[in-house]
Formats: sequence, structure tokens, C-alpha cells
Amino acid sequence: MTATIIDGQAVASRLRLDVAEAAAGLRARHRFTPGLAAILVGDDPASHIYVRNKRRACADAGLASFEHHLPADTSEAELLNLVDRLGTDERVDGILVQLPLPPQIDPRRIIAGIDPAKDVDGFHPANIGRLWSGERTLIPCTAQGCLILLRTVCHSLAGAEAVVLGRSSIVGKPVAALLLAESCTITIAHSRTADAATVCRRADILVVAVGRPMLVKGDWIKPGAIVIDVGINRLSHNGAGPRLVGDVDTVDAAMIAGAISPVPGGVGPMTIACLLRNTVVAACRRRGISDPEL
Ligand code: NAP
Repeated sequence: MTATIIDGQAVASRLRLDVAEAAAGLRARHRFTPGLAAILVGDDPASHIYVRNKRRACADAGLASFEHHLPADTSEAELLNLVDRLGTDERVDGILVQLPLPPQIDPRRIIAGIDPAKDVDGFHPANIGRLWSGERTLIPCTAQGCLILLRTVCHSLAGAEAVVLGRSSIVGKPVAALLLAESCTITIAHSRTADAATVCRRADILVVAVGRPMLVKGDWIKPGAIVIDVGINRLSHNGAGPRLVGDVDTVDAAMIAGAISPVPGGVGPMTIACLLRNTVVAACRRRGISDPEL
């Protein structure tokens, strides 16, 4: 078997166009522009790149973006104060605090300080509770991206045996919550799981988010399964620039799986597209406008 490669770049581009169209509609009919505020604390180079990419993505989609760069020695109280001010700023529909934060700041306190209605990362405890309760909420972007990619190759997920490898709060757990809401039968596996390979081999749907380069091999996969690889790992490559690889050995896995998302070009581009989507959705809900069809 040679797996269908799920083109996350193409799916994300379509979603970004749809977001741009929805934003243009809101400007024309309701006379406002959805806005995303990003807060960056310190000088982490990767975080700078992420925030720059988000700014460009907002501009492309016709969303307003506001950036706040704070020094590395910013106190927790100062950051909470900014988050609070953005919560009452009418131009701001989404607030994103770029992680990681410097050690003197507890990210949980900051996330808990974000207005849940503007929590476009979907990390606020109230939004996590809503997600697990099956209530309407703002869904964490990477998890939402995984589900959208799954739907491109599988129209009904109900009854499928799904294994999520990795239990982080930002990826593994929200993916599991979404798949449960789709009536999959869920197993969450992690570093303490005895024989993860055998557990993964049960899966009709396998989502891998562990941060271990090419951990999952072809013989971990049930023939015909759909595999979503969330991992982003940089491997140094014979003196050349770093090579990006996922948590799945794609070449090996593609011989067994029915469909697989590649790295790069799979889940990665979906995360920013879903962030834009959440910003427009948050903007509508705050104003009592029905959700755009995105
Ligand atoms: P994380 O917080 O480090 O969590 C990793 C999870 O994997 C943990 O639950 C850990 O188990 C589990 N794990 C680690 N080694 C394992 C092993 N050998 N066998 C089974 N489980 C194992 O990582 P994360 O934030 O979820 O990110 C995971 C990967 O996704 C990373 O490569 C990250 O760069 C990537 N990522 C991509 C996007 C995107 O936009 N595409 C977004 C976010 C993250 P324990 O809980 O037992 O420690």
C-alpha cells in the first residue's frame, strides 16, 4: 500500500482564503475588522519567527494585528496587567501569549487571566472544560487542524478506533477530546505506556504528538490507518541547514498507512490557519453575530 499524502498546505491555504472572505464580509456588513493581539516576552528567536508569521498571516487575511514585545525581565504582574488591558480593548478579539515564557512567569496564571471570549489558543481552563463537556468553545488550533485534515480523508469518524500518542495540554489532550466528540473510541498513550507500538497498531486513526523524531515506524501502524503526524523536529543534516522531520518515519509508514500527513506541509500550516479562524469566530461571538461557516 502507498498512502495518500494529506496536503496540509493546500487545506490551510483554502481555510485562510475562507477566513479572508469572512473578514471582508464582516467589514462590509458590520463595519469592523477582527483583531488579534500577540504578546511576546523576551528574545527567543523561534518565538520571534512565530509571531512574525502570525502578523503576516493576519495581514494576508485582512485581520488587524497588534504586537506587544516585552523585555525578558517582565514580571508576572506586568504581563497580567497587559493581558487585562487587552481584555477590555474593543479592537482586540483574540489574545495570544507566545509560549514559552521566562521562568519568573507562571504560564498557567497568565492563561487564566485571558478573557475566555478572546482566548484564541483555547488554553483557558474554562474553554478546556467546555471542550471536554462538548459545549461550544474556542478549540486549540493544532488540535482543530488535525481534525480538519482527518475530515479531508474520512467523512465519518464515528466508531473508529483512535489512538493519540502524546498527552500534552496543547495537542494530545485536546485532539483526544475532539475525537471523542466525533464518537471515536479513544486511547491516549504516552511515555509510560507499556508497548506503545502494540497500542498504536490498534488504531484506525493515529495522531502522533510526542516530539521524538521518527519514533513511529511502519510496523506500529495498522494497514490502511489514517496517520496524522503533529511532530516538528529539527535534525542537523550533514553540515547543511537543519532538516524538519515529524514524529513518524513517513517513508516507512506510507507503505502501510492508508493516508498520512507529511512534515513539513501537514499539520504545521493548519495551526496558523486555525488561529485566524478562531480570531474571526471570537470576533463574531463577542458581538452576537452567528459563527461564519469556516
Ligand atoms: P510535549 O508537551 O513535550 O508532550 C509530549 C508528549 O509525548 C508527552 O505526553 C509525553 O509523555 C509523550 N512522549 C514523549 N516521548 C514518548 C515516547 N517515547 N513514547 C510515547 N509517548 C511519548 O510536546 P507537545 O507540545 O505536545 O508537542 C509534540 C510535538 O508536536 C513536538 O514535536 C512539537 O514541536 C509538535 N507541535 C507541532 C505543532 C504544529 O503546529 N504542527 C504545534 C504544537 C506542537 P509524558 O506525558 O508521559 O511525558
